[in-house]
Amino acid sequence: AVIAQIETKDPDIRAFLHFDAKALLEQAERIDQRITSKGPSGRLLGVPVALKDNMVTSNMPTTAASKILEGWMPPYDATVVKKIVDEGALVVGKTNLDEFAMGSSTENSAFQTTRNPHDLSRVPGGSSGGSAAAVAAGMSTLSLGSDTGGSIRQPAALCGVVGVKPTYGYVSRYGLIAFASSLDQIGPFARTVGDAALLLEVISGHDPMDATSIRGERPSLSDLSDKGVETLRIGVLSELLDNCSQEVRERVELAAQLLAERGAKVETVSAKAVTLGLSAYYVIAPAEASSNLSRYDGVRFGLRADRSSLSEMFLATRTDGFGDEVKRRIMLGTYALSSGYYDQFYSKALATRDLIRSEFERVYRDFDILLGPTSPTTAFRVGEKAQDPMAMYMNDVCTIPSNLAGHPAMSVPFGTDSSGLPIGVQLLGPMMSEPVLFQVAFEVE
Ligand code: GLN
Repeated sequence: AVIAQIETKDPDIRAFLHFDAKALLEQAERIDQRITSKGPSGRLLGVPVALKDNMVTSNMPTTAASKILEGWMPPYDATVVKKIVDEGALVVGKTNLDEFAMGSSTENSAFQTTRNPHDLSRVPGGSSGGSAAAVAAGMSTLSLGSDTGGSIRQPAALCGVVGVKPTYGYVSRYGLIAFASSLDQIGPFARTVGDAALLLEVISGHDPMDATSIRGERPSLSDLSDKGVETLRIGVLSELLDNCSQEVRERVELAAQLLAERGAKVETVSAKAVTLGLSAYYVIAPAEASSNLSRYDGVRFGLRADRSSLSEMFLATRTDGFGDEVKRRIMLGTYALSSGYYDQFYSKALATRDLIRSEFERVYRDFDILLGPTSPTTAFRVGEKAQDPMAMYMNDVCTIPSNLAGHPAMSVPFGTDSSGLPIGVQLLGPMMSEPVLFQVAFEVE
């Protein structure tokens, strides 16, 4: 069914960068044998899962949607890939993204633009647009994305699916191509909250291969569907509502009303520092990216320009291999980290990050969960913001604060605007509050 769906829909949607029907059928046969021979069972036995193409796979190419990695075959599987395969999942293929996960529309891919399944003239969001669109269009049952500043939650909202950014360290980053290491997290996309809970249970856990991985057991999530919200205090975060469209705002208010009717104590709350998130993020993320991306020098991975001297080869490889947005980030980040500017920009951004963290801490003394929009608007048109980086960056105002704090957050579909485009509401919680987040998400669904 998945193959048929991809063959009919993907020529228009263009969610996949790598898809091999024959190899997929072979995988399916191996799963069949595992079932008929009463081999080890699995929590995802026979379930199709698509992977954002910034997670390394030893049997499929991995490009991060960049020309600089074209032709590279990773020598190992990311921890999340191992975990889903152990549980019997079928790896459907690799999905499109903004190059190195830098963007909010999937238009920054070096290879193709993914379209929103609800309206092909619109973007699916980004940077995990391919993974969100694949699930929304039924081309995969589940998928994985990565979220550095909103790249799971914003495309989930724009495509009408569930998307979760776990607590920093909840899911191993081993084998995730690094963008901004202190912010990156892998998380699930699914059509229901229950499916997202199951996939997150499978991929999470301590991993000695990731030095920032949180130790200890992860709680179960998929059995929280009828816990209700009666004992919970939920805060509607007013700063997040400030920049969003009237229709999005109305849906968030409706979700708040619904939760109040179900017995939660719902109040509006303000946390001024979250408005500084965007500025801090666009210093910290490019700074870390400029360092992470220095490894693409033409020696170790993918593309290598043919030049006689080493320094000319580095320069030509990076000039040809990186797209405009990636180059912009490398320049911004290098600038912010240079001596003379470090204190003015990088140190200030780190101090702002601390401020946001402590402001959240204060708010979470009175509230269990915060509620707000995921994205300020519904899906915008392809090309509408592509030439205006600032307008594109503004898409992440509601999602970035959780990444800076390391907190979990998720987007749950909650109705549509007047033209039928999906709207997502965002639930935010403190460190390791995944069970409470899911408890509320089950009610909102
Ligand atoms: N859109 C944001 C950016 O361009 C976030 C991307 C992400 O979460 N990977 O940096």
